[in-house]
Amino acid sequence: MVNNLLTIDLMELETEKNLTKKYDYTLPEGSFNLGVPNVDLVEPIVVSVVVSKEEQTYLVEGYMRTQLKLPCDRCLSLDKLELDESFKKKVLVTDEQVDLKEEDAEGFYRISVARLQLQELLQEVIEFAIPSKFLCQKDCLGLCNNCGTNLNESQCDCDKESIDPRLAVLKKFYNEE
Ligand SMILES: [Zn+2]
Ligand SMILES: [Zn+2]
Repeated sequence: MVNNLLTIDLMELETEKNLTKKYDYTLPEGSFNLGVPNVDLVEPIVVSVVVSKEEQTYLVEGYMRTQLKLPCDRCLSLDKLELDESFKKKVLVTDEQVDLKEEDAEGFYRISVARLQLQELLQEVIEFAIPSKFLCQKDCLGLCNNCGTNLNESQCDCDKESIDPRLAVLKKFYNEE
């Protein structure tokens, strides 16, 4: 999805005297596709970007903050995560058919048109900022393997010593005797 409001025309910088330009955005929930499954925006994304033209490249420096809602890796309950990220990218406009997805060996993002898609750039920053293991609390107790009870909220009657689901069936049989 391309959000046109989030496109920076790098050619603008060619006509600027000081060759540096600042862009500020506030992106409300619903106007931005995070591109990460199970993660939602809770607060608008506030982003500020400064683009400077260097010799043949553009330096894109920015700062963004927002709040996300995502499931805990252990208990699956939704919890908030504050993001407060600064980022710095070097962009090179080339004739090749490429996009912003990958940095090359010299650390440049190559784009084929002199239009910077902030949507993609922000998606990448956000994706990178989300921890690979997100917990609602440091010592989250998770879900019972047997009955699925959220152990942060209540205890269940399952015997915590045997969590082997193959044994759970047998145990149920004996308990009913
Ligand atoms: Zn949890
Ligand atoms: Zn249980």
